[in-house]
Amino acid sequence: MIEEVGADVKNVKAGDFVIVPFTHGCGHCAACLAGFDGNCLNAKEMGSSGFQAEYLRFTSADWALIKIPGQPSDYTDEQLNSFVTLADVMATGYHAAASAEVKAGDTVVVMGDGAVGLCGVLSAKLRGAKRIIAMSRHEDRQQLAREFGATDIIAERGDDAVAKVMELTDGGADAVLECVGTEQSVDTAVKVGRPGAVVGRVGVPQKAEMNTNNLFWRNIGLRGGIASVTTYDKAELLQAVLDGKINPGKVFTKQFALDDVQAAYDAMDQREAIKSLLIVEK
Ligand SMILES: [Zn+2]
Repeated sequence: MIEEVGADVKNVKAGDFVIVPFTHGCGHCAACLAGFDGNCLNAKEMGSSGFQAEYLRFTSADWALIKIPGQPSDYTDEQLNSFVTLADVMATGYHAAASAEVKAGDTVVVMGDGAVGLCGVLSAKLRGAKRIIAMSRHEDRQQLAREFGATDIIAERGDDAVAKVMELTDGGADAVLECVGTEQSVDTAVKVGRPGAVVGRVGVPQKAEMNTNNLFWRNIGLRGGIASVTTYDKAELLQAVLDGKINPGKVFTKQFALDDVQAAYDAMDQREAIKSLLIVEK
């Protein structure tokens, strides 16, 4: 909910119910105009990934905030949870799918079964993928991956995972979503795509350098980075939630009061929760 706006803010006003992206796109620089508002050239708060507070001052509010019709009381808890994911994990999963150029009829591999990976599965489905192979070794996450549209689950890692994908596909996947960021995951992602496939990368790199020569021999494309949260929410994601086409809020499997934030992180760290939801009691 918006408490107050600055003099230059015209598109939203106090009392509006909004999604607050972790990005701060201005909407008019070269990056924003090209659809990369996560890299806005005017953003002053780059890297401030996530807000866990009762109040915050949000810059570039005029363009970056996404207005939700009505008020919170008009929605179910499940819908409200889905709106929360549109500030970060769902848009990031979608960025993996968009970067990998997932299109209708594709066979897609999703690396990573955290909230972002699961949202990647949902995004691949939303973009019309026919076959979605999720890499997961946790029972609860496998279940949600299937619910979100995964057709196959692979629990193996490394070369065994590559062999499994080759068994299931004709020479590899059309698109690969890398939602982990470890060296092994990126390495596997590059190997499971068919020649000419693009790897959409949203896992934060865990290693400073990578050997890009292995992309060359099989014409593999590699792109990705910080999600374009406002762009995707306005283009497709908010409407998809409002229409009930996607329910990404299901990634929140536990909830905590803001004061118990440490327990919320511990639950994710110990794999007791896929994603922890923080609630501010009013
Ligand atoms: Zn901008």
